Amino acid sequence: MLKAILFDLDNTLLDFSGFKRETALAAAKAMKQAGVKDSQKNLYGKIYEIYESKGIEYQNTFEDLLLTYGLEPGLHEHAKQAAIIAYQKKKYALIKPRLGVIRTLNALKNHYYKLGIVTDAPRDKAWQRLILAGLDHYFNPVVTFTDTGEHKPSAKPFKRALSLLKLEPDEVLFVGDNYDRDVVGAKNAGLKTCLAKYGCRDVKNKVTLENMSIRRFEALMSLTDSPIMFRKWAWGIKE
Ligand SMILES: [Mg+2]
Repeated sequence: MLKAILFDLDNTLLDFSGFKRETALAAAKAMKQAGVKDSQKNLYGKIYEIYESKGIEYQNTFEDLLLTYGLEPGLHEHAKQAAIIAYQKKKYALIKPRLGVIRTLNALKNHYYKLGIVTDAPRDKAWQRLILAGLDHYFNPVVTFTDTGEHKPSAKPFKRALSLLKLEPDEVLFVGDNYDRDVVGAKNAGLKTCLAKYGCRDVKNKVTLENMSIRRFEALMSLTDSPIMFRKWAWGIKE
């Protein structure tokens, strides 16, 4: 019997890719306006080059980028702080749950499912995003990269969540958008898995391992709308 549902955060509950794009555009514009002699397009491209080499959660992006221009210290600091503030302003404006997330989470909670998070984001960023999206009261546990020091698909963060929930792996469903990290990782820990296809970029030829998939978040509602169907699925009973 399924007792809990764990979620990935970025791109599963939030439109994280859209948020990263918009914040990078705003930061590039701010650096140019501060006086960096390059186009907004180039600056934007360089932000993404750093994300690609250092990871999307890298915390020193603007400093690293501006160092490549060899600016005098005043202009360097001006451009860096302008980029940070432009990024933060967009962040506060843009972090929102995806369509249907709140309604669905409320329905799942009303059906007594325990809800939790397993994310590769650092602890402070994960909580900032949850608060900004108005989702900070829905989940317990919230397992972040900071808690285990291992990224998905390591089984460790999933096992940490299971021990906090005091549940067996087959009592828990994991919902995530990244096949290689979320589905493979949750399987490694023995959980049931649901691929959030609306957040995926490249899932062709890979859809073999997950137990179920959804094209919109609200499809999880069927877990509560048709409990009999769902229990059959959860127990692995074929029609
Ligand atoms: Mg994700």
